[in-house]
Amino acid sequence: MTKLTGKCLCGNITFSADTDIKMMANCHCEDCRVATGAAYGTLVFVEEGSLEISGAPKVFKHTADSGSAMEKYFCSDCGSQLFGKNSNRPNMVSLRAGVIDQTGLIKPTVNVYLSSRIPSTPIDPNLKGFEKMPG
Ligand SMILES: [Zn+2]
Ligand SMILES: [Zn+2]
Repeated sequence: MTKLTGKCLCGNITFSADTDIKMMANCHCEDCRVATGAAYGTLVFVEEGSLEISGAPKVFKHTADSGSAMEKYFCSDCGSQLFGKNSNRPNMVSLRAGVIDQTGLIKPTVNVYLSSRIPSTPIDPNLKGFEKMPG
C-alpha cells in the first residue's frame, strides 16, 4: 500500500489515499493539455474507494473522442485540476500527478496519445509509447 496526499493551489481541497497505484501515464491528449494548461498531463490511477477528499471540488463533465463520459474535478477557488473519472474505467480515479505531495513516487511507465502531443515535448525513449490509448 502507498500513502498519497495532495492539495490544490489554495489549499481549500486536500485528499489522501492509502492505495495501490494501478498505473501511471503521461497523457498528451488535447483534453489533458487544455484542462491542465500544461504540455501534457501525468495521471496516477488508483481505486476510487481509496480516495478521501476534504473540501468540495467542482466537476466538469464532458465526452471524450472515444465516447467515454469524463468527469474532471477541480478547485473552484484556485482552478487546480485534482482528479478525474472515465466511464471506461469504473471504480478508478486518475489523480493529477502535479497535485500529489509524494513527488518521488511519480514514475510514469507509458506515454499515451502521442499523436496529439506538442511536437517539441521531450519523450523518454525508455517508456512505452502509444499513438492513442492502448486497449
Ligand atoms: Zn484551491
Ligand atoms: Zn488525456
